Amino acid sequence: MSAEAVPWVLGGVGCLALGGWLFFYYGVLSPLLSLRDALGRLAQKDFRSQIFQRPPFFFRQSMRDVRTVTEMLQQLDRQIADEGFSLRAILSSMVEGVLITDRSQRIRLVNDALVQLFDLSVSPVNRSVIEVFRKHELQKALDTALETNEAQRIELAFETAVADGYDTKHFEVHVAGLNPKAHARPMAALVVFHDVTKVKSLEAMRREFLANVSHEFRTPLAIINGYLETLLDGALDDREMAVHSLQTMQRNGQRLNLLIDDLLTVSRIEAKAEMLEFRPGDLRDVLLRVVEHLEPNIRERDARVDVDCEMDAREIEFDAHRIEQVFSNLLGNALRYGDPHTLHVRITARRLDGEVRVSFSDNGPGIPYDDQPHIFERFYRVHKDRSRHAGGTGLGLSIVKSVVLAHGGRVGVESTPGNGSTFSVFLPTEREESGAA
Ligand code: ADP
Repeated sequence: MSAEAVPWVLGGVGCLALGGWLFFYYGVLSPLLSLRDALGRLAQKDFRSQIFQRPPFFFRQSMRDVRTVTEMLQQLDRQIADEGFSLRAILSSMVEGVLITDRSQRIRLVNDALVQLFDLSVSPVNRSVIEVFRKHELQKALDTALETNEAQRIELAFETAVADGYDTKHFEVHVAGLNPKAHARPMAALVVFHDVTKVKSLEAMRREFLANVSHEFRTPLAIINGYLETLLDGALDDREMAVHSLQTMQRNGQRLNLLIDDLLTVSRIEAKAEMLEFRPGDLRDVLLRVVEHLEPNIRERDARVDVDCEMDAREIEFDAHRIEQVFSNLLGNALRYGDPHTLHVRITARRLDGEVRVSFSDNGPGIPYDDQPHIFERFYRVHKDRSRHAGGTGLGLSIVKSVVLAHGGRVGVESTPGNGSTFSVFLPTEREESGAA
């Protein structure tokens, strides 16, 4: 090669090298870098559409594949987001408290109801179940559900702080393993807390009510049976004894009748089986009728009863039959518990703002302060024996309260122990339809 050809050759080689580099850069390196970036974005869960600038033909298929995979991932991502949204919507609309734990019993998800039910100020997510709830029974149920894949049901009671101390909440708790494939060991567990506090307290009330009813029935029945045996054992021949036995049996029979009547009234009003019949009427007429019916008792107790019913407090809508029962129970109690000969009952009816107040004030023994909040409860008595002996069923004031509430009204008592009581019934002058049932 001649000396003049050397620069030409070198120039040619240089051009070839530059051309080769440009070809390598644009044809191989740059598409490879684009592919690497695209895969890197996918790895970072960035599923936005990938745009490749005019890829060389031997990369086109790979780039198309990346685009297809990106689109599939986009679709999957949307689907997961939709499902997540539905799951969150379902969980937040539930009244039951729900949580999901992983296999190590670490809480992964909770719904709003759970946070509210347990008044959780710190998020329970990522904390262990035992740390949040401090109940070994729950931990054991989760152990079993996660190990055996069998659903568990337990009952738990939790003490919660309230304004004036502590309150107990009762829960029925369902624990179930969550496994993606049937028969596989659960990967997580679902816990559902169902608040059964109200049901429990209703159950307790029902039990207490039944116990009270049986007790109230047993006493007069035992007396009747006792006197029957005495009569059969020969007391029939003793006329005085026989008359005394029969009178006692009659009194206790009447007591059973009263008890059954009162129980039926309570159950009808509480079950709302009996629709109250609201009609415009004159409260004074009802009051005078009650005084007239109780005239024998008034005479027997040598009591004085005054009725003072203002003109504008007379006319309202009410169920005359039931309100008569209310007034009769209140006057009956005043006569029953007051001292004979000195007893004075004042019945007043006044129109107030939007309601009529009918008060029964007596100068009887009054009611101890501790008992006053309870006397409208069923079977609550200040002096059990005194009430029973005087023919009380223990249901009178609870009937008064139920009837008045069904009228949309309210009841109240003011009493100074040893210095008389005033029972007041407040009835609305305008009746709301909802209060009519
Ligand atoms: P009872 O059938 O025992 O009278 P109530 O429900 O009518 O049942 O009354 C509950 C309790 O309230 C009575 O046992 C009695 O101790 C008390 N009580 C009710 N009215 C009066 C009153 N006017 N004076 C004093 N105590 C009363």
